[in-house]
Amino acid sequence: MDIAKLEEQLSQLPLYVYFFIDPKSVEFSDRIRYICQHECPMYGKTWACPPGVGPVAECKQKCRSYVNCLLIGTVVECEDITNIEATLATRDGHEKITNQVRDIMRQLGAQPYILSTEACALCDRCAYLDGLPCRLPGKMHPCVESHGINIIPTLEENGLEFNYGENIITWYSLLFFND
Ligand code: SF4
Repeated sequence: MDIAKLEEQLSQLPLYVYFFIDPKSVEFSDRIRYICQHECPMYGKTWACPPGVGPVAECKQKCRSYVNCLLIGTVVECEDITNIEATLATRDGHEKITNQVRDIMRQLGAQPYILSTEACALCDRCAYLDGLPCRLPGKMHPCVESHGINIIPTLEENGLEFNYGENIITWYSLLFFND
């Protein structure tokens, strides 16, 4: 893929950050999966979440089968970060930008494997609950944490923070690809 052309188009989007990382540098941890299982109400509810995404070891193997990874981040202000509904409503803008980047990469010949935010909300009722395959596998993005990824060390290594203070929300996506 022509990285210069990709960067040219990324610069037109309202991203607050993007950079490329080696998939082998991403930290995978069963501890993150444990948090999904014990603290997230979406565990076992969609194909975008564990255990539907498969064991952490398989997720790790899949992500590391790619030679490159583009991290993109957006930032948004929320009136009340303690209001979960209001907070989650801000992810739509990030998902739209993630899909724009996906389309750009596809136009440039790459087939990115994408991890994004939270559980999938494309269907009113996820097919996972009925034991059926995902209806939109080409559009659905599992969330970053679903794969056992601890994104914080990657952010810190690149001079970023996960938390920018009260009522500031940062969303990140990872797009794994082969050059
Ligand atoms: S696209 Fe539909 S079926 Fe697939 S994970 Fe999302 S909600 Fe579930």
